Amino acid sequence: MNQTPPLPDYDLYSTDAVLKESLRREGGEAHEAALREAGTALGTAEQREHARLANRNPPILHTHDVRGERIDRIEFHPSWHVLMRGIVARGYHCSPWMTPSNRAVPGAHVARAAGYFLQAQVESGTLCPTTMTYGGIAALKRDARLGAEWLPHLLTLEYDSSELPIEEKRGALLGMGMTERQGGSDVRTNITRAVRSSDGSYRISGQKWFFSAPQCDAHLVLAQTPAGLSCFFMPRILPDGTRNGIRLQRLKDKLGNRSNASSEVEFVEAWGLLLGEEGRGIPTILEMGTYTRLDCVIGTAGLMRAALVRALHHAQHRRAFGAPLRSQPLMRSVLADLALESEAATALALRLARAFDAESPQELAFRRVLTSAAKFWVCKRGCELACEAMEVLGGNGYTEELPLARIVREMPVNSIWEGSGNIMCLDVLRALARTPASREVLLAELEPARGREPHYDRSFERFARALREEHTSEAHARALCVALTVLVQAKLLLEGAAAGAPAAGAPASAAPASAAPASAAPAPTAPGAAAAAEGFCRTRLDRDSGWGPVFGASTAAIDEEAILDRTWPLQP
Ligand SMILES: Cc1cc2nc3c(=O)[nH]c(=O)nc-3n(C[C@H](O)[C@H](O)[C@H](O)COP(=O)(O)OP(=O)(O)OC[C@H]3O[C@@H](n4cnc5c(N)ncnc54)[C@H](O)[C@@H]3O)c2cc1C
Repeated sequence: MNQTPPLPDYDLYSTDAVLKESLRREGGEAHEAALREAGTALGTAEQREHARLANRNPPILHTHDVRGERIDRIEFHPSWHVLMRGIVARGYHCSPWMTPSNRAVPGAHVARAAGYFLQAQVESGTLCPTTMTYGGIAALKRDARLGAEWLPHLLTLEYDSSELPIEEKRGALLGMGMTERQGGSDVRTNITRAVRSSDGSYRISGQKWFFSAPQCDAHLVLAQTPAGLSCFFMPRILPDGTRNGIRLQRLKDKLGNRSNASSEVEFVEAWGLLLGEEGRGIPTILEMGTYTRLDCVIGTAGLMRAALVRALHHAQHRRAFGAPLRSQPLMRSVLADLALESEAATALALRLARAFDAESPQELAFRRVLTSAAKFWVCKRGCELACEAMEVLGGNGYTEELPLARIVREMPVNSIWEGSGNIMCLDVLRALARTPASREVLLAELEPARGREPHYDRSFERFARALREEHTSEAHARALCVALTVLVQAKLLLEGAAAGAPAAGAPASAAPASAAPASAAPAPTAPGAAAAAEGFCRTRLDRDSGWGPVFGASTAAIDEEAILDRTWPLQP
């Protein structure tokens, strides 16, 4: 009946040429064996079924037990726990810091990003506690006392969902609470208060309007003190085994991310410890937020890949008007455009992750600006891409029997949480204003790809002029972020295409990668990399190509076959 066969089990890593090339380019090649293993384990029908079940059976809040005592407990479907156990076993919540010194080694964040990207192709709700733990550890590492007590339980590969004091747990997870009812983006309006006790701990009273993964063992929360907004570490279970004063009011009924519990919460003199300095709560918690924003980019890129693979699989098998969809010119044009967007998002996510591996001032400045710009742009593109990929599957794509509907619902949340789109763009302006040197860092990042493609060169010049202008108005912040992100993506694709080949007029040794680790030998160029780089520049950077928000609407001549072959090998 011309119906597409089920997606077979496949290795999510080995079938993804772009991911492999990006991993090698950004210095994560030592981790390939583990990623192949993860790719094989995650690309099964069984995993897909767990994802479906966890979302079709969302968590249930139990506020009281049978005797009327408060328990504030979340009941999850068993598939949630299966997925979480896998994530924790692969270390996606903490792996970069699982070293003797708890310091990341080169390539560690890149490898973890590649794993997180694979995991995102399976299920997204479980990524919420995963990313909050990843970011929370970064913030916690700055506090010697809390670090000594908690890191041994966080830096483990054991998933332990029991409700025990931390010293009795084999593994732990973290969450965060910033958003209050009266203001989320503007956390300065927070009214939750913390009062210092004689022993140096604090009692916290107030509310949080969004408090995801409340089952986590501890949360970083913001509360007001006389010195201003401060960050507190608030465990769920107290050292004596009793519950902290954290009352879960209700769970949000959400568009997507349904497997994950997002609660409204009230703090009733909840016990907490100060993290960082009093009055410096925003920078302290933003240490965590930088990592979770990175994960919004990686998670969206993973979802894009999942949607794209489904679209390509379908287009290969489904016939209409006498031929497979994939061979029909207009559909091929749409698919190739989707593939370019997915490739650019993947390459960008891993490049950004490398900036978290390095501690040079240049990389710190680069990640300070690009994390927000990339979160803004990639998450916006994810929403568009998911809808278009769903349409490739026709009516079947809109049903709950395939994951496209879930992916469409999933996409917008990465754009909203951890700082919504406008907030990200304003943050880019703030970073550029506070660190003027970051302008030169950005240009130095983009410079090596000049001379490879004429549209790139012209876009570079335009962007350099815009960047050097002293002041970009708030009203035009989105335009600046789009220009920056697309240019970095183009640069990465050109760099990938040029790996091993000299730039026009340049000696081979002058080749790419501003700050690529010395160990990262140029990856052998996969067929299609040049077509993808050229296609991306011709569509996204040529102002006359007609490229816009709708996929497949550019008039630029691109090598669609080479791009599609590279993206998803034809299957029998
Ligand atoms: C599923 C889900 C789970 C969540 N989990 C958590 C969690 O665990 N912990 C937590 O702390 N928060 C969580 N959040 C909250 C989330 O981070 C906030 O919703 C988000 O930061 C936006 O805040 P807000 O909802 O108060 O919107 P507002 O701050 O009111 O913003 C509304 C809109 O106005 C825009 N805007 C704001 N200021 C400006 C400006 N100056 N110029 C231009 N535009 C502006 C914003 O970009 C946004 O589009 C979660 C949200 C969702 C949807």
